[in-house]
Order: sequence, then C-alpha cells, then structure tokens
Amino acid sequence: MYNKELDASFRGYCDAKGIDLVAYNRELDSSNGWGLSWMKRMYLLIFCLLLLGCSEQTIKVASDVHEMNRHVIHKEVPQHEVDSEAFFVDLTSFERREPMEWGENVTAVKNQFQTEEKEIALTFDACGGEYGNGYDEELIHFLRTEKIPATLFVNERWILENESIFIDLATEPLFQIENHGTNHSPLSVDGGEAWGIAATESAEEVYAEIMDNHKTVQELTGKEMSLFRSGTAYYDEVAVELANALGYEVVNYDILGDAGATYSSNQVRDALLNAEPGSIALLHMNQPASGTAQGVIEAVPSLKERGFEFVLLEGKKLE
Ligand SMILES: [Zn+2]
Repeated sequence: MYNKELDASFRGYCDAKGIDLVAYNRELDSSNGWGLSWMKRMYLLIFCLLLLGCSEQTIKVASDVHEMNRHVIHKEVPQHEVDSEAFFVDLTSFERREPMEWGENVTAVKNQFQTEEKEIALTFDACGGEYGNGYDEELIHFLRTEKIPATLFVNERWILENESIFIDLATEPLFQIENHGTNHSPLSVDGGEAWGIAATESAEEVYAEIMDNHKTVQELTGKEMSLFRSGTAYYDEVAVELANALGYEVVNYDILGDAGATYSSNQVRDALLNAEPGSIALLHMNQPASGTAQGVIEAVPSLKERGFEFVLLEGKKLE
C-alpha cells in the first residue's frame, strides 16, 4: 500500500523535522488491531499526498534562504572563463545588500597604477550603440606608427559591429583588450542612472553586463579579460565588489582625456599633459569626428620629451 516516492518524501520531511520515523513504525508494527494500524497508514498516506501537493511552496517558505537559492540564483562561472579556476559566485549575497555609494570613484575602483618610473597608460573606450559604433582609424594608425601601447576597453555592441577590426586589434601585442560591458550600462545592483543612461538593476544584471561580453571576447579571441570599466564609468560599491568576485578589477582614470569625446584637440592635449607617473588617461577610439586623435597626436611627443613612457595596464599594480 506504500508508494515508494511518497515514502521517501515523508522520510525526508521527518528527517528535516526531527521526527523519529523508526519509533513511529515500531508503534505501527506493535499495534495488534489491524483497524488501528490501517487507519494510521491511511492518515500517513493522506498526509504524504498533502505534503507532496504543496511541497514546493511549503519548502520554499520553510527552508533556509541559502538552501532555497542554491539552484536558483547561484551561477557557476565556467572553468575556462575566469583564471581556469571554477568557483561559485553567490549572487544573492550581493542582491540583499543596499549600496551606500554611487559615482565614478567609489570604494575599490582603481584610478592609477603603482610605478617608480615616469609611466602613463593611455586607455581608449569603444562604447558601441547607435552613436558609438565608429572607429577612429587615424588614432589607431598613429598609435601603431609610433608604437604607443594602449589598453582598449571594448563594449560588446562595438565588437559585434566591428568584428574584423576588433580581431585585428586583439591579436596585436601593442594593444590590451579589456571589458567595457555588454549593454554599456552604469553598474549597480539597485538601479539608478548616470548621464541619462539607466544602470543595471540587480546582481543578475551586473553579472550579465560583465560576463556576457567576457564570453564574447573569449570566444572570438581566446583572451581572458580581467579589467572592467562600465559604460559612463559609474558604479555602486556593491557592484564593484561583485565584479571583483568575478575576477575583475574595476578601472577608471585620473586623467579625463576627452570628456566622452567632447573635448577639442587642444583640450585633449592639455588634459594629457597633466600626466604624472602612474596616470591612467580615459579617451575614446569610437568617435573619429572628435578632437581625440589630434589631441593625442599633439600630446605624445611632448610627453616623450618630458621623459614619459607609455605602457599597458597588464601586470601593473592598480591603486
Ligand atoms: Zn563608453
């Protein structure tokens, strides 16, 4: 008369509740009256059916939240994606937290790198999107000709619009490819906006904003990116911590090189001439009509004269 599945479910429930099923069975077995034992077994069966019928809801309400979310929210970062080391990132632990900071310079965002030398890192964002899919050929040609290393923060939308150019850049040792997000969203576990652009609204969205582009670049180039800069360079500190948990350092700048590619070439040049050892300059490589290329072309010889060397961020200790 026992259904094995029902029996297993009931045993699980009893275990969880600390009910001594053995003692209960012993009582059933020792019962002389067939009627009483039969009745008890019927009650048991009905109870099991009820338990199964509402088990999903009951268990969700009653069980520990960690346990409940284990299969739902946790995501495994596949082994090949982050430093060849499989690990679990508990997204729920980030979801439950309330961010206290919002902006470009929140806790754990890096703006410079440590160096004893007169070194500066030029970084160029490729933002993608309706007005952001351009390619500043003059700029890249100059960097190649002068052998100026540069770190390129590339958004997935730009990659998909400029795939062959992207692959060329990614295979050149002169350039370091890093992550400028998937949808170019400011990074938050809790929503908000920067410069009129809506931020991600949950830990899940933060994960997708970073890791979807990570996967795209990995598939196209085999490269593992480990530096992230969000669209607009805005974050909350919980989202930055989540990026860190995914194996990423978050990198902004200490030199606003072209102010979203709105500066004139003179403004770009003057901004770059403020460099100090360990400076990270934020510029753009996706706005060929801007003053960025010309400003860089003018600033580079002056910086060289002052003894500056241009370096990639790779291998640098960020601060
Ligand atoms: Zn951007």
